[in-house]
Amino acid sequence: MKTFAMGGVHPEENKISTNAVIEEFPLPKTAVILMTQHLGAPATPCVAKGDTVKVGQLIGKAEAFMCANVHSPFSGTVAKIDICKDAFGLAKPAVYINVDENDVWEESIDRTPDIVRQCDLDPKQIVDKLKEMGIVGLGGATFPTHIKYNIAPDKKAEYLIINAVECEPYLTSDHRVMMEHAEEICIGVSILRKCLGVPNAYIGIENNKPEPIAVMKKMAANFEGIIVEPLKVKYPQGAEKQLINAITGRCVPSGKLPIDVGCVVSNVGTAYAVYEAIQKNKPLIENILTVTGKKIQSQHNYHVRFGTTYSDIIAHALGELPETTGKVISGGPMMGKAVSNLDAPTTKGASSVLVIDADEAVRATESNCIRCGKCMNACPMGLEPYLFSALVRNRRIEEAGAHNILDCIECGCCFFSCPANKPLLDEIRLGKNLYRGILMAKKK
Ligand code: SF4
Ligand code: SF4
Repeated sequence: MKTFAMGGVHPEENKISTNAVIEEFPLPKTAVILMTQHLGAPATPCVAKGDTVKVGQLIGKAEAFMCANVHSPFSGTVAKIDICKDAFGLAKPAVYINVDENDVWEESIDRTPDIVRQCDLDPKQIVDKLKEMGIVGLGGATFPTHIKYNIAPDKKAEYLIINAVECEPYLTSDHRVMMEHAEEICIGVSILRKCLGVPNAYIGIENNKPEPIAVMKKMAANFEGIIVEPLKVKYPQGAEKQLINAITGRCVPSGKLPIDVGCVVSNVGTAYAVYEAIQKNKPLIENILTVTGKKIQSQHNYHVRFGTTYSDIIAHALGELPETTGKVISGGPMMGKAVSNLDAPTTKGASSVLVIDADEAVRATESNCIRCGKCMNACPMGLEPYLFSALVRNRRIEEAGAHNILDCIECGCCFFSCPANKPLLDEIRLGKNLYRGILMAKKK
């Protein structure tokens, strides 16, 4: 069975919310819609205080090249346009909405349960529609999809790869969307395949998900050029470069993009959002979020509209956090980030509310590096994490840059493997930020 060539680890899977079917999350009373929910510049608010808005109405316009439109996930009245701190404490422009419980949608959105199979749009029209609907990658990177699928004339796509690996422990939203929306996903994949003009699309799923593999294989048999590829279980199989390597055998060189080796990768949740955007005229206003943790009473997968706060989700799903909670993570335990502001709104990039108990969250005491090389063996990018640690501690940042610190995909395999409990990932993230600062200063 296929997998990527270098490094990787096997963390405890903890997929305890696998059987929690997707539930609709109730409307909150107020919501805050961040204008930066994507990689790139903030969208520009195009509504004003006092305006009434409908679900699906454009409220933030993408004016920069690297940007995505933002639509209102709620109907209601604009209370104010202001700055709001996101889940990690960063201040961002936002539209505050007093939510109308009547939930009035734009008439142009098809809300019927009917599945629309035929798509007559040509590739340019598909890209334009993805831009209009504010679609971004839902695998975590939130890269605007219309930019990814607008292939430069000097590049050629040969493979479309759909990332349904979900290798992060605990997360089950991709698992559930495949179980419950296989046909819509396959239509979305067919639209993306048509957009790129490639003969085949490969849906990569780790072999620890036999039910989604069976469901997707059965559905894909009804579609031309969709191949479901079960993959060996190894973290970080779902990282873009590792998935490309597993499926095609190709390696994306340092500093290059997937398209440089003929590949385009999108998450399975993005394929579902593409179906909804193109076939149902529905902008990206919601996502499936897993609410999970070993010590919480009930596990959930919710359809949550962006702008709902983490505290609203916790209050509805759990009542309150268990007393023994150590931290709440947005994303998985390997690559996710601790939420420092629970009153912050969820965004297009959110995939979970992961409640980690204090005894799981506590970090073991760090000791000296014993030169065991385990971090190097675990690194799927062939880097030298122990060296980055030493260089960053001594602020020898340019040397870390020369050793390709920017190639680090922040998977955490090095930190996971280190018997000396060195905070390798924290140091590498710091080193990357410092090195980017040096590179920016040199450009000026
Ligand atoms: S976090 Fe970076 S350095 Fe560490 S294993 Fe992953 S890619 Fe390698
Ligand atoms: S795994 Fe930890 S102890 Fe071993 S070489 Fe790497 S940093 Fe040093």
